[in-house]
Amino acid sequence: MVLVSGNKLLRKAKRGCYAVGAFNTNNLEITKAIIAAAVEANAPVFLQLSSGALKYGGFELAGLALAFARKVPVPVAVHLDHGPSIEVARECVGFGFSSVMIDGSALPFGKNVAVTKKVVALAHKKGVSVEAELGQLKGREDEVFSARHTYTDPSAAAKFVRLTGCDSLAVAIGTSHGAYKFRGSQKIDLRRLKEIGKLVDVPLVLHGASSVHGSLVAMASKYGAKISNAKGVPESQIIKAIKLGICKVNTDTDIRIAFMVAVRKVLSENRSVYDPREILSPATEAMKAVVMRRIRVLGSENMA
Ligand SMILES: [Zn+2]
Repeated sequence: MVLVSGNKLLRKAKRGCYAVGAFNTNNLEITKAIIAAAVEANAPVFLQLSSGALKYGGFELAGLALAFARKVPVPVAVHLDHGPSIEVARECVGFGFSSVMIDGSALPFGKNVAVTKKVVALAHKKGVSVEAELGQLKGREDEVFSARHTYTDPSAAAKFVRLTGCDSLAVAIGTSHGAYKFRGSQKIDLRRLKEIGKLVDVPLVLHGASSVHGSLVAMASKYGAKISNAKGVPESQIIKAIKLGICKVNTDTDIRIAFMVAVRKVLSENRSVYDPREILSPATEAMKAVVMRRIRVLGSENMA
């Protein structure tokens, strides 16, 4: 259909008790995979770019995302993931993004409120939605890094949303960025999420939520990768989190792993291949399969 605001997708998801998949793109093939899955599953999606993605692909990469979003028959929000500053958020709003995240989670509460409020003011003027974050996820994602978890405090979250007027809130409940999310048991703090859900009425967002499927990790090892300790969030935990108010689930690592495995497989099985399209088309298919599976887990299939 069209490019739509993030808020439109998330309000509908909140009413329907499902979550919208938010997938990070860094190039043409990832963008094609996400869009193809969304169309086939008749699902709404967030096509999101981090500031790292913008550095890698330039705003031309965002232009590609916007071009796909405007052309396809399902609703797509083009979203800035982990906006590092008011300036980058402003640039993305000006460029035509329909949703931006301002990540002030490393700042003290008052400064996070102040920065978020400014982005809300400039974005809402253009009908663009704003995701904010309170609490910090452990791990690394592009330029976002934290050495430890800082869990979101439920009453502080309610106050934060009231003060900033943000449209959605990313919460820290034990998930982490990257491919190595857990040592030992794989648990997220659902009790905390339930408390946050009771006090906060805006849609909640789960970052660091890739499932890091064992079958893909095994395939990766088979073709020479060294990621055998990789561990993600079990799909059963994600489904529970959606019942408690999560309306947007971010996925990046699973896509990256699928890409890497498919490329390794092609190159090891076909030693004479050198056409980039022959190398990357199987990767596009593999990433599309990951996105399809996620859309089904989130309950957003046929919710376009
Ligand atoms: Zn994140």
